[in-house]
Amino acid sequence: MTRIDDLPIRDELRGQSPYGAPQLDVPVRLNTNENPYPLPDALVRRIAERVTEAARELNRYPDRNAVELRTELAAYLSRTAGHHVTLDNVWAANGSNEIIQQLLQTFAGPGRTAIGFEPSYSMHAIISRGTGTGWISGPRNDDFTIDVPAAERTIAEQKPDVVFICSPNNPTGTAVSAEAVLRLYEAALAARPSMVIVDEAYGEFSHRPSLLPLIEGRPNLVLTRTMSKAFGAAGLRLGYLAADPAVVDAVQLVRLPYHLSSVTQATALAALEHTDTLLRYVERLKAERDRVVAELTALGCEVTPSDANFIQFGRFTDAHAVWQRILDHGVLVRDNGVPGYLRVTAGTPQENDAFLEAVRAVLKDEHSLKETSA
Ligand code: PMP
Repeated sequence: MTRIDDLPIRDELRGQSPYGAPQLDVPVRLNTNENPYPLPDALVRRIAERVTEAARELNRYPDRNAVELRTELAAYLSRTAGHHVTLDNVWAANGSNEIIQQLLQTFAGPGRTAIGFEPSYSMHAIISRGTGTGWISGPRNDDFTIDVPAAERTIAEQKPDVVFICSPNNPTGTAVSAEAVLRLYEAALAARPSMVIVDEAYGEFSHRPSLLPLIEGRPNLVLTRTMSKAFGAAGLRLGYLAADPAVVDAVQLVRLPYHLSSVTQATALAALEHTDTLLRYVERLKAERDRVVAELTALGCEVTPSDANFIQFGRFTDAHAVWQRILDHGVLVRDNGVPGYLRVTAGTPQENDAFLEAVRAVLKDEHSLKETSA
């Protein structure tokens, strides 16, 4: 049998693992930060109408510039994220992962580097590698906030071409202040100048306002967003960025022609018509997140403050063993490899109850928790 290593793959891909959250068939799946609420019936019907219209013209290529969709995404951001943007500021692709890939293809690649502050979203490093970009792992404090002075020093020394700031950060849930972003932006400009990508995939779940207003007058700052989480449309694959129009022009140099199918554009437009309903689900999820935080804390867990639709909790002597025992109770959470911690996505009230019940049972019959560090 031929193995990968028998093929002439690029050296930097040898021995690496693909992104792979387990997709197990268990009753309660709280491991990939999906929105637990299916799209409402009225929206499903609207998608069918819009897609039917699009289907009549599937013999033609889609609008390569996705003008209607970008206009509606700009209107959504202007209405909800505290800063007015237009079509010229917004670009869309198949998931924010593709947006990130396009940004790295444009601003990084062979001979260039990107930095992220870990633990953070693993795809930042994986897409960097896939685009031939060198990866630099930057520091965080023990409480998982970014160590800003250390980050400034690392940026000054290493002069990365791209700086990733994930806020709220996956997997820790930590939000980054505007002040911290500005300090890192200044450091990045002084060092190279580099591009700063603020990944706000979970922005709608945050207690803090969006970092979108920071793009004003800062052409090297890009904000990325997704419809996978707040819009409950992970299956749609629609991500977008907001930035100076020059950034939107720049990514045109690497995007594949007609990358966003007519069906995707039609579906996303239908979902945007139902924004208000979908944002009400976000409010429910935020309340559930806060309830799960309170209950985990009451159970004696250390919980990292969360601005996202998921929660990092611990500290366990053997996090992976606890992950397995929670799974034995029919609940799938995520072991991101952060020592002592696991991550759970906020689900429906019933799913969260099942999760809390499982944690209670696991904690009862063993000394799984570490002594508090404080
Ligand atoms: N950024 C972060 C921080 C994420 O957690 C995710 C999804 N897990 C993404 C980006 C990518 O999302 P998508 O490609 O579905 O838009």
